[in-house]
Amino acid sequence: HAKRSGRNNYAGFESGMDAELRMRRILESDLGNAVARNELYLCFQPRIVLGEERIGSYEALVRWQHPERGLISPATFIPIAEQAGKIGEIGEWVLREACRQSLALLDGAAISVNVSAYQLRNRNFVETTLAILEEVGFPPTRLELELTESILIEDRDRALGVLRALKRHGIKVALDDFGTGYSSLSYLRTFPFDSIKIDQSFIRNLSIDESSLAIADAVIELGRALDLTIVAEGVETEEQLAILAGRRCDEIQGYLFAHPLPASEVMRQIPASIAAQIARTRLRPQGG
Ligand code: C2E
Ligand code: MG
Ligand code: MG
Ligand code: MG
Repeated sequence: HAKRSGRNNYAGFESGMDAELRMRRILESDLGNAVARNELYLCFQPRIVLGEERIGSYEALVRWQHPERGLISPATFIPIAEQAGKIGEIGEWVLREACRQSLALLDGAAISVNVSAYQLRNRNFVETTLAILEEVGFPPTRLELELTESILIEDRDRALGVLRALKRHGIKVALDDFGTGYSSLSYLRTFPFDSIKIDQSFIRNLSIDESSLAIADAVIELGRALDLTIVAEGVETEEQLAILAGRRCDEIQGYLFAHPLPASEVMRQIPASIAAQIARTRLRPQGG
């Protein structure tokens, strides 16, 4: 009996793996048509400038509304797109659509767009980016590209060249998910970043874990010394906000102020929700 159930468990494990692999294959093949079939859409989440209590810019975040499988998160399908060689097409769609929607629905607000390391490997990346901005009529100075540390480690010299070219054309660059990768602090000096985004894993634990607080403190100090804009992402509570405001973090992004929303809903919902949050925060004495 034991032997038999053992085998069954093993078989169950196998078919579990099969199912996951099969799903991956399905998504991989469906991704090929997702852009053409209009199944991708964007949400926008504001970045609040502390002290000025206004929206500085919006981050564009892609979603996939799969016809049979429902809403699929970018955390699931972006890695599949990267492996399947589809990230270039998706990335170009995201950039074009983000710029277009900013002009059409967000009063031409500044936007940031996530860029995968795979996209940067394409020799035409800078050229393609500029061509899309030109085509849509979006000013390069209103665009920020969010890159992760993996980009810098892969091919340092090439990455440096790409970042410098982007900056020459007025495009800003941010280092996303800071603290989760393997790059050294000296990278912050070497690469011409405009801002760094402290990863939400540190923000989540700010009020409960001394080491997260110490890391956030160190990043804010370093960012200030290097004259970078420091953004905290994943801010969900007033306590986290108070801690960050007390340490003069520059900008805040998170559910506390607003969830990512389609651009058509941003103007209707977000200004009121932010005003309400600011009012709530002001009503409380801030211990820091
Ligand atoms: P990211 O660039 O670090 O984006 C922040 C993620 O945190 C988003 O998840 C956002 O919805 C979520 N978030 C924002 N505020 C809060 C909060 O207060 N609490 C919590 N728990 N989460 C919050 P999302 O939209 O699921 O995106 C996940 C990741 O997928 C992004 O992380 C980014 O790495 C990638 N991604 C999204 N859109 C694109 C895209 O267009 N291109 C590429 N290459 N990657 C993308
Ligand atoms: Mg990002
Ligand atoms: Mg991030
Ligand atoms: Mg992330």
